[in-house]
Amino acid sequence: MYVLTRETTRGLTCLTLGLVAGILSTDWAIGALVACLVWIAIGGLNYLAFERWTRRPLGTTASESSVWLEIVGRLRQNQRRSRERSAWLIAELRWLKDTFDAIPDGWIVIHRAGSIETINASARALLGLEADDKNQNLLALIRNPAIVELVRGDIDSDIVEIPAPTDEAKRLELRHIRVGEDRSIVLIRDVTTLNRLLTMRQDFVANVSHELRTPLTVIIGYLEALSEDDIEIDVIRESIARLESPAARMKALVEDLLTLSRLESSPMPEEEDFEIVDVPSMLTAIATEARSISSDGHDISLELDCGCTVLGIASELHSAFSNLVSNAVRYSPDGGAIVIRWASENGKPVFSVRDEGVGIPPEHISRLTERFYRVDMKKSRGRGGTGLGLAIVKHILRRHHSELEVTSRVGEGSTFSFALRDASDASSIAL
Ligand code: ADP
Repeated sequence: MYVLTRETTRGLTCLTLGLVAGILSTDWAIGALVACLVWIAIGGLNYLAFERWTRRPLGTTASESSVWLEIVGRLRQNQRRSRERSAWLIAELRWLKDTFDAIPDGWIVIHRAGSIETINASARALLGLEADDKNQNLLALIRNPAIVELVRGDIDSDIVEIPAPTDEAKRLELRHIRVGEDRSIVLIRDVTTLNRLLTMRQDFVANVSHELRTPLTVIIGYLEALSEDDIEIDVIRESIARLESPAARMKALVEDLLTLSRLESSPMPEEEDFEIVDVPSMLTAIATEARSISSDGHDISLELDCGCTVLGIASELHSAFSNLVSNAVRYSPDGGAIVIRWASENGKPVFSVRDEGVGIPPEHISRLTERFYRVDMKKSRGRGGTGLGLAIVKHILRRHHSELEVTSRVGEGSTFSFALRDASDASSIAL
């Protein structure tokens, strides 16, 4: 606009000069000639200024005024703007690529024929492809019939699950999404953990059902027998007495399930949830209870060698101590010695319970805290176990930032122990 205004001004100047010359000479031809000469002279000056400027080093700003210089200046400005825009676009594309590479799920854009157009780092890692596999045919690279069917649309579903080409133990889920006529996207997800969790849940439901079915079958059997006519009162009394054990078993199982579910669903306790727990009094009560359960069949002793005060959740710690003590009673023969100990080891308060019971073969030790895991299913059920005690202990200890330690020798006995936090260390321990 500025160039136009200036050029209009120059044109008007030429016309005015021509007009003045025409009036003074009373000849319009002279006036027109003067106007043309002035216009040509201005054009020539513009050209000379531009020509001088082109000989100066790059980046020099022109001191002269020239319409050509202005036009070139504008072209340069446009060029600089479009360069800046390209740089911005390149930076955005790079950011987009880095983002796609950072996504843990795999992502491939393929052309209809199957050639790879874009692939992110996760897809390469999950499928074991190289960076230079771009533009190659995905179907030829993977050679998995399920993927071929998925991409060609030969199956009804848009999703298939395959073992990972890099590791047979891993499972990958591939989802095919069509985008327009020629392109499609394949999304790849590692579903190994999800599958494992689903299997765990199915196993858990199967285990619970199985554990409940056995006592229920017994109860239903007795109830059917009791519903017959002409039953003697002694038989009725005996049957009712026999119902007690399966009913108690079901109650124990339901209580343990509820405890476990509560522990699993509760958030990790905060510092203010912990209280000072009087462990010696708690253990004294638990030892007395254990003696009454074992009907003095075991030699249960209590060693309180720690004057430490402990921070924890009292009800949970009580449950952990009594689970371990009752296991020691249940898995030890009558007369066996059981030592419950509360001592300071390496500056930490440590609880332990040692028995002279059946012991545990080493290959089972790492699995003891799994839900419903038993070394000997029949013996454990026979001793009134639910199979959930050590799973509950594990969860409680995790909430107290501790771990269960087990040492055992088959036929000689076992020791279950764990350390707790001394209340005096509370401020120095970062939870
Ligand atoms: P259960 O209710 O069956 O006792 P737990 O979770 O408490 O379930 O224990 C899991 C398994 O660990 C038991 O079935 C048993 O095989 C083994 N176990 C636990 N404590 C002892 C122990 N003190 N001595 C020997 N084996 C034990």
